[in-house]
Amino acid sequence: MTRIRSYHRPSSLGDALALLTRPDIATAPIAGGTVLNGLPDTMPEEVVDLQALGLDEITRDGAMLRLGATARLQDVVDHEWTPPVLRDLAKGEAPNTLRNAATVGGTVAAADPESRFLAGLLAFGATATIVSTDGEQTVAVADVLGDGRVLAGSLIVAVSIDVDVTAAASAGTARTPADTPIVLVAGCARGGVITLAATGVAETPMVIDLSDVDALDPPGDFRGTAAYRRHLAGTLGARVVADLQEGGAV
Ligand SMILES: Cc1cc2nc3c(=O)[nH]c(=O)nc-3n(C[C@H](O)[C@H](O)[C@H](O)COP(=O)(O)OP(=O)(O)OC[C@H]3O[C@@H](n4cnc5c(N)ncnc54)[C@H](O)[C@@H]3O)c2cc1C
Repeated sequence: MTRIRSYHRPSSLGDALALLTRPDIATAPIAGGTVLNGLPDTMPEEVVDLQALGLDEITRDGAMLRLGATARLQDVVDHEWTPPVLRDLAKGEAPNTLRNAATVGGTVAAADPESRFLAGLLAFGATATIVSTDGEQTVAVADVLGDGRVLAGSLIVAVSIDVDVTAAASAGTARTPADTPIVLVAGCARGGVITLAATGVAETPMVIDLSDVDALDPPGDFRGTAAYRRHLAGTLGARVVADLQEGGAV
């Protein structure tokens, strides 16, 4: 098990990036630490704490809601501007002890396959603002989760969501109401276009095409085989679409 040799808490993005891009020192950003501290085998040698960077604000410009990377999931739950469906998904993500530590940026970077909040972000077509020593870029959250994952030496500084949608809804199936859903589908309708995203059907939450759920190749486990998960994606997706067509709560 690697032991942390040094802990840094820089107060500027430049200093944080300089620490993260040093050659030959395995250094990782740490936000809420709920994943990083929970997986000692993957511990880096040094960590760069993001909490003094002032990235925890939630702001709004018209319909664009900007969630700072170190805003806590509980901040998202509590904020008056959070669309109700996203609020419920963030609230379901983890108990309040974890929600008060886990951050928006950490949730995107960790890309947990069962992250309901992340499925909601994908359904809303959220984008991530990423900075590196080469500058700043804005990419679809869906692209951050794929092969392009947040590159070493880069930081997510914010996640932006256009909250001007016609309707939003979600549906999930779990062993009990208190359990994490085996599969959950979140959806948004915007200008006649519906976007659906699901948890539990791949190694990260992903946007799904309801007419092609047979192409999904979910890793099965004791809670559900791959075939059962494909079935759930189709059934729950159809339920969400029906809800959206009836004007589901935004
Ligand atoms: C008991 C327990 C239960 C959990 N249950 C669930 C669950 O049901 N569903 C679920 O989705 N998750 C769950 N998680 C996982 C975890 O809580 C979330 O993924 C959390 O949102 C991660 O956020 P964090 O801020 O704590 O990340 P951290 O642990 O600080 O970091 C996670 C990863 O992201 C990187 N990182 C953090 N911030 C940034 C940034 N701004 N830019 C670039 N990289 C960054 C870190 O280097 C690290 O690799 C659980 C965790 C625990 C301990």
